Amino acid sequence: MNKNFNASVRVNSKGHLEIGGCDSIELAEKYGTPLYILDETMIRNICREYLESFKKYYDGKGLPLYASKALCCMEMCRIVNEENLGLDVVSGGELYTALKAGFPAEKIHFHGNNKTVSEIDMAVEAGVGKIVMDNLSEIARVDKAAEKFGKKVSVSMRIKPGVDAHTHDFIRTGQIDSKFGFALETGEAFEGVKKVLEAKNLNLTELHCHIGSQIFDIAPFVAAAEIMIEFIAKIKNELGHTVTELNLGGGFGIKYVEEDKPVAYEKYMEAVSAAIKAKAQEYGVPVPYIYIEPGRSIVGEAGATLYTVGSVKEIPGVRNYVAIDGGMTDNIRYALYGSAYTVINASKVDKEADYKATVAGKCCESGDLVQENCMIAKPCDGDIIAVLSTGAYNYSMASNYNRNPRPAVVMVKDGESRVIIKRETYEDIIRNDI
Ligand SMILES: *Cc1c(COP(=O)(O)O)cnc(C)c1O
Repeated sequence: MNKNFNASVRVNSKGHLEIGGCDSIELAEKYGTPLYILDETMIRNICREYLESFKKYYDGKGLPLYASKALCCMEMCRIVNEENLGLDVVSGGELYTALKAGFPAEKIHFHGNNKTVSEIDMAVEAGVGKIVMDNLSEIARVDKAAEKFGKKVSVSMRIKPGVDAHTHDFIRTGQIDSKFGFALETGEAFEGVKKVLEAKNLNLTELHCHIGSQIFDIAPFVAAAEIMIEFIAKIKNELGHTVTELNLGGGFGIKYVEEDKPVAYEKYMEAVSAAIKAKAQEYGVPVPYIYIEPGRSIVGEAGATLYTVGSVKEIPGVRNYVAIDGGMTDNIRYALYGSAYTVINASKVDKEADYKATVAGKCCESGDLVQENCMIAKPCDGDIIAVLSTGAYNYSMASNYNRNPRPAVVMVKDGESRVIIKRETYEDIIRNDI
């Protein structure tokens, strides 16, 4: 491991991996494995960086919303609220979690490509700040819910700006061929706007786009912002309605492996702010209040997962399987997208990483691999393996396959640790069985 992998991890005098000032081997002993670790200082610092960049480049006229699907739990909602960010939720379950954590409803934006009637009711009744329209069918549904609760609902519309974000196909969503949002090129988006403006109980204040995830390039974000301003101008000129807010979505890339080179968030804001201001002036529309929705970049690098090695199976001329006590149940991203991760032998970080390992989980599935052909210090039974940058889309995608209980999540800060999500028990596993 490069000693400067990120601000959260380092190697201590025992040759152990340290996260947020805590020895990972001691954490594994205290809480058991598999175990998710999250560094609170890093999470808070990134929230602050985003807010600062808004102040510096956009006179503070905007709000970052944490895309909670990356990791949604009550403590994350509390931290994000304390850091003065808003929240993006995509389901009734995420909304419920946020409300239970005391998150102010008016700072919550509700997304989703097929919100159910009961989810819409829940959001309208709670008074969420914005419901983001995804399709034509939904407009009437939200209008009806607004009428039912006697409310005027502030809405946004998810637009596909048609920008290719140079990322993995499965997570590229800006183009026409996506299940999310209204297409611009086909006229669908414009029809949608007309329909929202005709709805009695809806108030169209915002347009939204989200062009993909794990993006390192600034150019596609700038291109998307410019296209959105053009569309705001078209709505103003042809329908006489001024959209005053623009949401540019999330998607900022993080470091999973050494080759990943994330751009400072500030650089993104600098470029996008300049483009928005210039285009707004060119098209004669007011400079919009802006939102962004970082998910992965707020929690991803702050997380790591610890596992215990149960066996090392060397198949000469083929590969070396290092079996760990977790797998696709706590990190499905390699099985799903072939995602790269940095794997280290946390017990022996001071030793040379000269052993080629395929890290295999304990599920009854050959594809249950966390990473293939990674170089780690030669492991033996009982060693603690750490996978870095697992804070986003790991716990949130975890499952109970093979009836494995979900691991605990432990928050670390300045050498102290505390459980923020308890480890599931076997009793939890059968809780809903009749
Ligand atoms: C997933 C998603 C995000 C967050 O994306 P990241 O890549 O985690 O930053 C933001 N907005 C919307 C609408 C999303 O679907």
